[in-house]
Amino acid sequence: MYPVKEKLCQVLQSLPQGVRLVAISKYHPEDYIMAAYEEGQRVFGESHEQELARKVGALPQDIEWHFIGHLQTNKVKYIAPYISMIEAVDSLRLLREIEKQAAKCGRVVRVLLELHIAEEATKYGLTLDDCRSLLADGEWRQMEHVQICGLMMMASNTDDEAQIAGEFQQAADFFDEVKAAYFADSPQFCERSWGMSDDYPIAVRHRSTMVRIGTMIFGPRVY
Ligand SMILES: *Cc1c(COP(=O)(O)O)cnc(C)c1O
Repeated sequence: MYPVKEKLCQVLQSLPQGVRLVAISKYHPEDYIMAAYEEGQRVFGESHEQELARKVGALPQDIEWHFIGHLQTNKVKYIAPYISMIEAVDSLRLLREIEKQAAKCGRVVRVLLELHIAEEATKYGLTLDDCRSLLADGEWRQMEHVQICGLMMMASNTDDEAQIAGEFQQAADFFDEVKAAYFADSPQFCERSWGMSDDYPIAVRHRSTMVRIGTMIFGPRVY
């Protein structure tokens, strides 16, 4: 078995205070998750609804699950009863569906707005202007079962550290803009979810509050 406990401890020791770890367990088996759980890790991230449902059924109930991948609106109803945070909200349509399904469950679901800053055309997410429009539109203010807690983004998949740093900095600056314009009175709007196995040391230097790390803890994924 991959040395999950050892790797988890190494990652945790490398994180500054105030940065929380979401252990990304997609494609990894339940016993890997349990190894991390036994070390005290409680926040895990998954990106496929069916895999998540299977793991939720098999694992301890005090795990906080984050949905980190692209979420289709027709899948929201399946995760709304238990999901702790939906990290990658990239449209008003998806936000509306989360509001609707969370209301049915009598819950408030915490979400992050996903920004598209990276150069890759394939990545999901809102451009900064799309995000500005979504917030300016104001419909989200009426949503009583959705709490917007911050921003999420993925940097470009490149070895160019200056580019990665520039993208994280753009996201951090945009966080300040949005915080001042819409969430100045909302202490819940505080999360900056950026940084993965390959780039999280750069992300924490650019004010990440939440890193999403999979490979470095659980090893390579077997698809
Ligand atoms: C898979 C995934 C991660 C984790 O990536 P690693 O390189 O394995 O650390 C982080 N964020 C998102 C959105 C992912 O899909």
